[in-house]
Amino acid sequence: MTDPFDDSFEDRLENIIADVIEVVRHRDSDDSSNESTPEEPRENVEVFDTNLPTTHKYLGKLNNVSGYTIFDEGEIISLLAIHTNTLVFPGFTLPLVMNSQIEQSIMQNFLTKQNVFVLVCADEVGARLYKYGVTMEVFESFSQHGTLYLKAKGRQRCKIVPGKEIQHLGGRLQQITVKILAEPEITSPIATTQLTALKLHRSYLFKDYDSLIRNYKHRKYHLAQFTNPGWVYDRRELCFYVKFIVQRLINFYLKENIPTDPVSLSYWFIQNFQLAHEERLQLMKLDSVIERLRLELKFLEMERLLCCAVCKAEITNQKYVFAMSKDGVQSNYCNPSGHVYETVTVLKADNFNLTGAPSKEFSWFPGYWWTIMQCRLCRGHIGWKFSSNHLHPSAFYGLAKSGLDIKIVDKNQTGNMI
Ligand SMILES: [Zn+2]
Repeated sequence: MTDPFDDSFEDRLENIIADVIEVVRHRDSDDSSNESTPEEPRENVEVFDTNLPTTHKYLGKLNNVSGYTIFDEGEIISLLAIHTNTLVFPGFTLPLVMNSQIEQSIMQNFLTKQNVFVLVCADEVGARLYKYGVTMEVFESFSQHGTLYLKAKGRQRCKIVPGKEIQHLGGRLQQITVKILAEPEITSPIATTQLTALKLHRSYLFKDYDSLIRNYKHRKYHLAQFTNPGWVYDRRELCFYVKFIVQRLINFYLKENIPTDPVSLSYWFIQNFQLAHEERLQLMKLDSVIERLRLELKFLEMERLLCCAVCKAEITNQKYVFAMSKDGVQSNYCNPSGHVYETVTVLKADNFNLTGAPSKEFSWFPGYWWTIMQCRLCRGHIGWKFSSNHLHPSAFYGLAKSGLDIKIVDKNQTGNMI
């Protein structure tokens, strides 16, 4: 990958800031059409409850695990770690099924003392463990017929401490030492430059974009005393990035599902937008919310197609992505054998065949039948078609991210595969 903050992007960013400030000042941007919203439901059809997938009910009834653990930022601790083929960011849920006896006994023994483990992820080539992870808090667990079912929520980013021994315990489990990463508070670059008496009258520090635009003229007068041009300070204001990213995302997602808190938005974006694995790893490394939002803004500029990972046949476009879960368009689900699938829901797909009989067993979307989807060209597994004759929408597709590649359609150079 190239440097995410190369000069050409810096130049474009300057133009973007100028354009957006101009456009938003002159129009109310709140109304926007959503291209990928399903059609209106027919009569006598029940609309699917998007809260249901987040409960992962297919795992059965689990017991609540009490306790809430948040570590101090910078704290160094030894924790149980598991590596899977997926990344989970703070605020999102990971379902786990453990069939291996050795993994179960290690995990159950660990949970009697501690309800937090670390999820780590393989790097770009999958050859070794990546050095970053997320602490996962187990909030429900249940053991039945030799299988352990768990649900855990991502809490804090952490980094494996270099030089500390990594102890392999069995299966996917290890004992590792991690440092909890701080989420530094980002303040306005001009936070300390205004006299307190004036601040009371008209503050130049803004929590939201609308108040920044309302007072923009006075802010410009204030900024005139500094050596750098005004846009240098504008591009360090978090509210600008939040506004611009949300404004772009509402072309794909329902506005009420998109958080406006900068830190939550930066993680929501990684979990929901169609990013290549390497792009997600790049974001995982960034320590401050403003760096994450800046890189996300760059990724938003690129049009994306979802293609078969094996033969590169085009399966769908980012614009057909829609949310079937309150968690967003992309969630982790677990099959009965314990494999975690990161699944993205879309309304339209091409170049596939259905195989096998429809089934309701272990359905991630209660009430829907699922049928396996294979790539039409190479027969690779790409996901499942979900269908129902009494729920709305009547059909949609859950595509498995493990069977897909992201193809970036660059306006300047087409066909650039990451
Ligand atoms: Zn294929």
